[in-house]
Amino acid sequence: MLNSLRSIVQEVNSARDLGSALNIIVQRVKAVMETHVCSAYLRDGKGQYLLMATDGLNQNAVGHVSLGLGEGLVGYVAQREEPINLELATAHPKYQYFEATGEERYSSFLGVPIIHQRQVLGVLVIQQVDSRRFDEGEEAFLVTMSAQLAGVIAHAEATGVLKAMGQNAQEARFKGVAGSPGIAIGHVVVMSPAADLRGVPFRSCDDIDAELAFFQRCLGSARDDVKNLGKQLEQRLNTQERALFDAYLSMLDDASLGGEVTERIRQGVNAAYAWSEVILEHERNFSSMSDAYLRERAADIRDLGRRVLAYLQESSQQSRVFPQNAILVGEELTASMLGEVPKEQLAGLVSVQGSSNSHVAILARAMGVPTVMGAVDLPYTQISERRVIVDGYRGMLYTDPSANLLKHYEDICAEERELVKGLEALRDLPCETLDQHRVPLWVNTGLMADVVRSLERGAEGVGLYRTEIPFLLRERFPSEEEQRLIYREQLEAFAPHTVTMRTLDVGGDKSLSYFPIEEENPFLGWRGIRVTLDHPEIFLAQIRAMLKASEGLNNMRIMLPMVTSVGELESAKTLIYRAFHELVEEGYQLELPPIGVMIEVPAAVYQARELAARSDFLSVGSNDLTQYLLAVDRNNPRVADLYEPFHPAVLRALHQVVRDGHSQGASVGICGELAGDPAAAVLLMAMGYDVLSMNATNLPKVKKVIRGITLEKAEQLLDEVMAQEDAESVNRCLERGLGSGLTRLLGMPELPEVIH
Ligand code: PEP
Ligand code: MG
Repeated sequence: MLNSLRSIVQEVNSARDLGSALNIIVQRVKAVMETHVCSAYLRDGKGQYLLMATDGLNQNAVGHVSLGLGEGLVGYVAQREEPINLELATAHPKYQYFEATGEERYSSFLGVPIIHQRQVLGVLVIQQVDSRRFDEGEEAFLVTMSAQLAGVIAHAEATGVLKAMGQNAQEARFKGVAGSPGIAIGHVVVMSPAADLRGVPFRSCDDIDAELAFFQRCLGSARDDVKNLGKQLEQRLNTQERALFDAYLSMLDDASLGGEVTERIRQGVNAAYAWSEVILEHERNFSSMSDAYLRERAADIRDLGRRVLAYLQESSQQSRVFPQNAILVGEELTASMLGEVPKEQLAGLVSVQGSSNSHVAILARAMGVPTVMGAVDLPYTQISERRVIVDGYRGMLYTDPSANLLKHYEDICAEERELVKGLEALRDLPCETLDQHRVPLWVNTGLMADVVRSLERGAEGVGLYRTEIPFLLRERFPSEEEQRLIYREQLEAFAPHTVTMRTLDVGGDKSLSYFPIEEENPFLGWRGIRVTLDHPEIFLAQIRAMLKASEGLNNMRIMLPMVTSVGELESAKTLIYRAFHELVEEGYQLELPPIGVMIEVPAAVYQARELAARSDFLSVGSNDLTQYLLAVDRNNPRVADLYEPFHPAVLRALHQVVRDGHSQGASVGICGELAGDPAAAVLLMAMGYDVLSMNATNLPKVKKVIRGITLEKAEQLLDEVMAQEDAESVNRCLERGLGSGLTRLLGMPELPEVIH
């Protein structure tokens, strides 16, 4: 059974479109389960479950028979969101007879919902002539099958919708995770690593003859390469191995792959996309073969495919022109891709993988670029050059927006511009409450680009300088001197304000290409201080670079990430003292910087007192603390809804840390993203946090809210919030306490009902 399951899923994956995917499903499931009927119903735009494919019922009924939620047995399965297994379907009160299907012959019925991200996409049904209940094993098989197919169907469906739209563009929306706040309206540029067969954007072509000629030229170049490669390796290969090169050459022939592609180009598809489609289809066919030798040929096809694609893309890469409001979209956007677009043309980002705490999202926030992450169902290759709206507040992407929606978002953008203008006026005003309680607002940085924006927005210091970012942007560890220069630049830019330099925090999702860490469970693995204590040579070089960089400025603090025990803090301090004394002996004029600990794992919350007693300051890393307290991977879009920093457990931990830290005389700050949420900032201030460090984009919004409230009122609100039992009640309580104007400042534009 398991093998059939795997091979069906594989076949469905390789289907060209939703229609053929559904046909494969019904035919294969019917055969494997040895039943008389298998049918697939999918929910249409009107919420009806429409018969989309069947093997066993009348084909004429396909596309015609449909049931609403709760209607008939199919609608009933969808409504109950669980399987219904009946020996005699006609005896069930929900049974409804559709003459067109010819189903009166079948007695037994098993219907299973197809559920993806809590949505019932459809219902898979098997039926049998004889009156018998399907057994437990059969039911379990169909449930497993449907769970596996749900994602594939969702993807195929979205792809189909987008493809079908063609010129009659019609609004579609895709849900992701909010990555960086703001709204962007622009045109899509699909970003894929070079020669990535799965990432080729769909484009049509107008000049078919020119495209065919271009394709032939590229094939010619690839042919020459293969011939040369064959010649170079002639001496080292036996006859059989040499035959592979001949096979490659013949695959490129017009009678083979070349011919299939030419056919598609003639239908108006551009060469690169046509080529990738043909190659992927052949690759999948070979991969699903039972013969091991033939399966291996999939790798050859892929290799050949990449070679030709590289030629097909070469000229288009060179001539790449970015539109004025470019929205970069890709499977996994990287920091270096951002660098390819001129800054003033970059409007927004959408990444299929990753979540709000992935690097690209952190960089986007630093740059103020609206971003949606984790848009897992987006068939991104199908939306090249389309007009889209990126809603970075809600994590939504709208393709081909209607005039109504466009107008709505344009209005929000205009209001935003006004708001920013208003906030700019706050730049030089202190961040203090109406009853004169002062709260320093600092920023989180990592790039030089952050510095300018931060200073422009009135930052009074840096609460977190992520040193791993310059490490991530390189191809090897930066030398001590290279690091010194980078750190010096940061320290100088902010002097005399304080800059909190965090020691290297790699591991988890932050892996250096030149220092790979492969683990089953990286967030619970070798990361942060654990790595650097195991590699004192890396740690010492960094500390020495930091200390040297601070010479004469004395505005630096050193902060240690992912500390889980007092022992780790002690070991790190020993190394810092050692580096300090060595440098003083070498003649540097240094002051020992304050040393602090990040509180970002639950163990550190419960030991905040002991850690505070041994350090100068504590700083809560609420991004990780939330993930570890709630057991929710911060990068996983599937559980993004559960990542809730207003969860009472998180709020209690935050409250306890500040009390315990202060009891030992340590200053206590916070540098997770939570500090940049104006409502959270009010609570944190009331808890007694000494410093709030956030992304530069949100700093003026936080200042605005704090300047509009008294500490007394904030404390009352905190008391009320701390009495709540869940995040929803906390959110409601904040809305009541801070008024509706906060919605705007939080950057959560109201949407008309139709869009929810
Ligand atoms: C945090 O975990 O809250 C934090 C500030 O560090 P990072 O996001 O870099 O892990
Ligand atoms: Mg962290």
